[in-house]
Amino acid sequence: MLDENLRSVKQRISKACERSGRPPQDVRLICVTKQAVTDDIRAVLALGVVDLGESRVQDAAAKYAAIDTGAAWHLVGHLQTNKAKDAVRIFSLIHSVDSLRLARAIDKEASKAGKVQDILIQVNISGEAAKFGIPPSGLEDTMDGVRALNNIRIKGLMTIAPEAAGRKEARDCFRALRELRDKLRNAPYPVRELSMGMTNDFEVAIEEGSTMVRIGRAIFHA
Ligand SMILES: *Cc1c(COP(=O)(O)O)cnc(C)c1O
Repeated sequence: MLDENLRSVKQRISKACERSGRPPQDVRLICVTKQAVTDDIRAVLALGVVDLGESRVQDAAAKYAAIDTGAAWHLVGHLQTNKAKDAVRIFSLIHSVDSLRLARAIDKEASKAGKVQDILIQVNISGEAAKFGIPPSGLEDTMDGVRALNNIRIKGLMTIAPEAAGRKEARDCFRALRELRDKLRNAPYPVRELSMGMTNDFEVAIEEGSTMVRIGRAIFHA
């Protein structure tokens, strides 16, 4: 079942890339394991998955300890400043930085750990429909503040489409994030990554330029 699901997801990613004239290696599949047990995580790793996503630090900590392979862990859910230390210990990439205050907490812990922490800035494109993320109007200021920190490196932007969004609404949301990224290309430190697209909307996200899709249900459903 898992290998069939995974094969189907990869095929849909390839097709979406093809439709939009992008090479499939442009898009990284992050396998979101928040509803998966460790045996299933081991199984997808054996099938060649290299990027795992979790939405809570506590859940990730237990799985991280149980799974001793070289997989890269991604934090895709909201992070509280008091969990920054564990987040820095576990995650290769934190997708959900949504305030300068949080960035400073991560920077402090990364500095203590002798690490430069890769992060994405989470943007709230859709306004009140989303709980977390920086409004587009505040993005440049926040990024300027984060760039002043020595132990954090901004790799890109992340967003979540509104839960009840139809295809068009999701597309508008993803396109807006891409346009923000493109505008920042002229900034002193351009960023490349766009983390956008989940089970319900990853093909649209790829068509709009996603470089990382975060997929759980489509892989782990029975
Ligand atoms: C759970 C989650 C995902 C994966 O969602 P699916 O619908 O299971 O593919 C992706 N991103 C975030 C932020 C999540 O919390």
